[in-house]
Amino acid sequence: MYQAKAERYDSMIYNRCGKSGLKLSAMSLGMWHNFGSGANYDNMVDMVTTAFDLGITHFDLANNYGPYPGSAEENMGRILRREMSAYRDEIIISTKAGYTMWPGPYGDFGSRKYLIASLDQSLRRMGLDYVDIFYHHRPDPETPMEETARALDHIVRSGKALYVGVSNYTPEQTRQMAALLKDLGTPLTVHQPRYNMIDRAFFEDLEPTLSELGVGSVCFCPLAQGLLTNRYLQGIPADSRAASKSPFLNTNRINEDLLDKVRRLQAVAERRGQSLAQMATVWDLRNTLTSVILGASRASQIVENVQALSNRNFSEEELREIDEILGNKANA
Ligand code: NDP
Repeated sequence: MYQAKAERYDSMIYNRCGKSGLKLSAMSLGMWHNFGSGANYDNMVDMVTTAFDLGITHFDLANNYGPYPGSAEENMGRILRREMSAYRDEIIISTKAGYTMWPGPYGDFGSRKYLIASLDQSLRRMGLDYVDIFYHHRPDPETPMEETARALDHIVRSGKALYVGVSNYTPEQTRQMAALLKDLGTPLTVHQPRYNMIDRAFFEDLEPTLSELGVGSVCFCPLAQGLLTNRYLQGIPADSRAASKSPFLNTNRINEDLLDKVRRLQAVAERRGQSLAQMATVWDLRNTLTSVILGASRASQIVENVQALSNRNFSEEELREIDEILGNKANA
């Protein structure tokens, strides 16, 4: 069995998640890609244990992560059971339901029927009694939000999740869910939005609402799925996400315009003594975020990205230059 490094808590930063008692590592590890059924077990263990040794305590899953849907939870369950059972109380496991998981009218969106059945399935796949955070993965245009809120409240009261959150909710939807949950006596602890240098608008629009409500923010895709790294500067590597069967990153996105921006961003990163992946990671964290969820295909990427924490201040000039390269207006 794996033995965690004694110094694992020495250099990671832990941020309070909104107004809750929960602290999360400033960097989390996500299992959307590279933890599915075809993934190499030893490589997955290497990534999870390397992350944990570096102080990453938060591991982000969803019912549908794979492929096949559910296989990332099965793999994480295997790792927790075989390698890390001694550390369960030092680990935050998140999962979600909201996207299509099984056929028929009960395997999607936000009904009480779906959320409760899905979490039961997730717990079985991971071999856990409870998850630490359970998210409603996306808003449901049909189910009354009161029903989704009552299901989330029930899940906390039944002990199957310690905290609840939402993902991809607009500011107005977030405000509504926070109010409904508050009335039921269960706080909305966390929101999970997309946020990176290229895709900024969703989080920047949401952030004032989260601050006002005291809801934490755990942002996904800080590296724009690998575009904000040096991964594609010499072509499309065979072992990269863009070359994989993932439907989420199309090679069309890797065009000359993007590569030109990436080269210029890399020059800014180099002046800071960082790789572009490192700069993009801490660029997210310069904001009032609780945590960024990094994806990885190998442990060395996690090591590199965590090292960025030692240089997370930006000068006004650097921020302006990044904004200019990406054609964004300067932001605070
Ligand atoms: P990132 O934007 O961090 O992209 C991760 C990819 O970037 C890696 O797989 C790797 O690509 C590449 N990479 C990472 N580090 C480096 C490095 N140092 N140098 C070069 N390349 C690097 O995040 P993801 O898109 O993976 O998303 C992260 C997590 O966010 C997910 O796992 C999931 O938990 C969560 N998420 C939540 C969503 C929601 O709706 N709530 C939606 C999407 C994600 P390669 O594989 O090619 O090596």
